[in-house]
Amino acid sequence: MPASPPKDRLRLAVQKSGRLSTDSLDLLKSCGIRVKAPKERLLLHADNFPVDVLFVRDDDIPQLVMDGVCDLGIVGTNVLEEAALERRHNGDGGGYLVERPLDFGGCRLALALPEERPYTNLRDLEGLRIATSYPQLTKRFLAEQKIKADVVYLSGSVEIAPRLGLADVICDLVATGSTLEANKLRAIDTVFKSTAVLIRNTREFTADKTHALEILLRRIDGVQRAAGAKYIMLHAPKASLAAIKKLLPGSENPTILPLAGDDTKVALHAVCAESVFWETMESLKQAGASSILVLPIEKMML
Ligand code: ATP
Ligand code: ZN
Repeated sequence: MPASPPKDRLRLAVQKSGRLSTDSLDLLKSCGIRVKAPKERLLLHADNFPVDVLFVRDDDIPQLVMDGVCDLGIVGTNVLEEAALERRHNGDGGGYLVERPLDFGGCRLALALPEERPYTNLRDLEGLRIATSYPQLTKRFLAEQKIKADVVYLSGSVEIAPRLGLADVICDLVATGSTLEANKLRAIDTVFKSTAVLIRNTREFTADKTHALEILLRRIDGVQRAAGAKYIMLHAPKASLAAIKKLLPGSENPTILPLAGDDTKVALHAVCAESVFWETMESLKQAGASSILVLPIEKMML
């Protein structure tokens, strides 16, 4: 693509340092977009694609996109939905569109209690104090469940709030649960399931930006489609071909090739949309397949 004038470059906001940073930059890299990791500079230009990357705190990304300061952003839906509810609550305008869910940043916002606190169901939260960095999402959940409780905002270290006597319950992000365990808390319910997404602002883009976004999205689709997909090659007796084809996970139209020097067998090559597990390979072997090779796929364009 020819170099574009600065005004026609897409501006993408990503988290400067934190849980989404590496995955966001890796995604760009897989899309063939070269940007160096941020050091002291806040804005970096990709030298081979019309995109400039702005490195910021993740909490700023929804506003930057909704206000039109950035065209695109990569952010968790937890932060995004919280910001959108906050804006609605304050009567502020500005919207965003989710262009693509991304396959990283998965976590959930969960209610958690000190382990020793007795608990049977959500009714037990009635009248308690809940500490969270996500007051809007927490309040929405409580309203849906028709539970009256006090929600107090804490910007960080929410998990220690019960020990400090600041709250009875917390509503915080959980991925593996190890932070909860370390703080002697147990999760009791999920308030919101989150994943990273690519968002854009709702304003109309110039033709150049629209074109660049189309290419970027096509590449993201290619990267995400290839993730987990495998290329499988094997030798199959002609007699068991039908049985072997049935065992291949998510593959259509495999290629069948003759094998030099053995006309009872063929070589089969196929793209499998899902991972090929050892169990699948063992079943293939049992069905008569041999010389089974499973290769990773880096990119895929349909
Ligand atoms: P910043 O300085 O940018 O504000 P932060 O401390 O708010 O950083 P991180 O802890 O880096 O943010 O988390 C960023 C995002 O990563 C979260 O908002 C969430 O979408 C996602 N995430 C994925 N797994 C987890 C997890 N186990 N705990 C917290 N966030 C997670
Ligand atoms: Zn943050």
